Amino acid sequence: MQLKSIEIIGFKSFAEKTKISFPNGMTGIVGPNGSGKSNIAEAIRWVLGEQSAKNLRGSRMPDVIFSGSADRRALNMAAVTLLLDNSDHYLDSPFTEIKVARKLFRNGDSAYFINEKQCRLKDVTNLFMDTGIGQGTLSIISQGNVEEIFNSKPVDRRSIIENVAGVYKYKRQKTTAQTEILQTSDNLNRVNDIIQELK
Ligand code: ATP
Repeated sequence: MQLKSIEIIGFKSFAEKTKISFPNGMTGIVGPNGSGKSNIAEAIRWVLGEQSAKNLRGSRMPDVIFSGSADRRALNMAAVTLLLDNSDHYLDSPFTEIKVARKLFRNGDSAYFINEKQCRLKDVTNLFMDTGIGQGTLSIISQGNVEEIFNSKPVDRRSIIENVAGVYKYKRQKTTAQTEILQTSDNLNRVNDIIQELK
């Protein structure tokens, strides 16, 4: 699995449609302070489902939409598309190329797409679950992240390790199963009450 390209339009400083390709090997992005390097990493995190505006250095999610500059009006929509090579089927999908996209309008309307088909955030999250790539994983280390990990509480550090080790998916499944067991036992109690009443 490899990130082949990212297309950004209307996200933060990227008013113009901008496509960045990532060929084989290592790619470095250089530029003066404030030129938008971190915005690219944030665009990747955003399309993968980041829900916290604060994690994207904003106070509300529409803050990610281009807010205008001296010579350009603000835009009403931000859209980011990732193109991934999945010929090794690292992501659990039959497709050899996967396009993941997210759009947000200033009125708050938003949508996710996988291979141009609208989907739920959950579908994007599930696609990347336990691959180490989803939002909140360590595939993207932002400025300040390293100190944050070193200074975090042991319980938080443990969740980072669990995420990397692929345990997280099973913990979620366990929680879902436990909730279903509780609901079923409630239903059984109710059935027993009715049986007692009918006796
Ligand atoms: P540094 O090297 O200092 O870390 P950088 O290249 O990583 O900088 P970023 O932090 O990615 O730069 O970009 C900051 C720029 O993005 C600022 O000029 C800021 O005004 C601009 N910016 C952020 N959000 C928006 C927005 N919604 N609309 C327009 N411009 C924005």
